[in-house]
Amino acid sequence: MPQTRIQELRREVDQINLEILRLLSERGRLAQEIGTIQSSLGMSQYDPKRELEMLEMLVNANNGPFDDSTIKSLFKNIFQASMVTSQASEKPKFLSSRAAREDTVVMIGDVAVGNGHSPVLVAGPCAIESYEQVDLTAEFVASRGVKLFRGGAFKPRTNPYSFQGLGEPALRWAREVCDKHGLYFIAEIMDARDLDVCLDYVDVLQIGARNSQNFTLLREVGKTDRPVLLKRGLSSTIEEWIMSAEYVLSEGNPNVILCERGIRTYEQYTRNTLDISAVALAKLETHLPVMVDATHSGGRRDLLVPLTKAGLAAGADGVMVEVHPNPAVALSDQKQQMDFDQFDDYLEAVGYDKKLSAHRHEIYGF
Ligand code: PEP
Ligand code: MN
Repeated sequence: MPQTRIQELRREVDQINLEILRLLSERGRLAQEIGTIQSSLGMSQYDPKRELEMLEMLVNANNGPFDDSTIKSLFKNIFQASMVTSQASEKPKFLSSRAAREDTVVMIGDVAVGNGHSPVLVAGPCAIESYEQVDLTAEFVASRGVKLFRGGAFKPRTNPYSFQGLGEPALRWAREVCDKHGLYFIAEIMDARDLDVCLDYVDVLQIGARNSQNFTLLREVGKTDRPVLLKRGLSSTIEEWIMSAEYVLSEGNPNVILCERGIRTYEQYTRNTLDISAVALAKLETHLPVMVDATHSGGRRDLLVPLTKAGLAAGADGVMVEVHPNPAVALSDQKQQMDFDQFDDYLEAVGYDKKLSAHRHEIYGF
């Protein structure tokens, strides 16, 4: 007899379980609807005051057999689950997010960047200082198999009285020597007012760390279809950096390459701290190619090889370094630019020669 009673009671419990499930699902749907309205109003979905009110109401209505703390903990779990559901349904679908599309490949002329293509090397002087300087450097790096040439004509300097870059003539010289030596040209644009002149000369528009959150500039380059190399801001979080990319993408330009260039930390031995996890995370969170600037991160010539290897091991799609015919007399970044012999040693040490793709596995193990 007691066995039959147990079975009867269990059948009732089963019915109640199903009823609780129905009510939980109904509750979840209501929470989702509330979440949608809240996010349309820009309100946070987490409302601790409202949670306390609901718990108080439940405790007041509790007639046992569960004690108040058990009821509270059960319902807190329900609140938590509803919040996760409503947030998941409301998670914004950013154009930059990995879920938005397959990996982006940015084409710079015939050079493919991203989605497993061999990592690219960007090399050239910090600043374009003279026709001769840029011609010598371009000829040299091109002879080593480099395809992407960098050089600044508008330099973002801390001190307004230090060398600021030579502007349009510098862009013109660099364009000429890049054409002469079969290189593509990357240069920083600092001001939206320079967009037309930059578009006349450069293949890739670089947004520097200091302008990484210049939203007007980001929108303007977003209105073009020119590849954009977007540095991470000096103190930008990874989210802020990705949102900067979102500005460019949202204007219709899909050709964005992210570039980790070190962030400001308390460390003094390096100019900035190369954030390797940001490289891996940017690859995980977005579909965009990610590069590492080994030069401005460490700010030291003796770190260029290990930082390059670290960046590539973390999955970077390319690396940037600075090369100058005579760094000792360079007008900017003397400490980190390599001369031609040092660049040869660097190429050998990182295995970054024309045969990189063939050697990639034995050098980096992936
Ligand atoms: C540069 O690449 O020339 C430069 C100034 O770098 P960053 O904006 O990363 O400091
Ligand atoms: Mn520099």
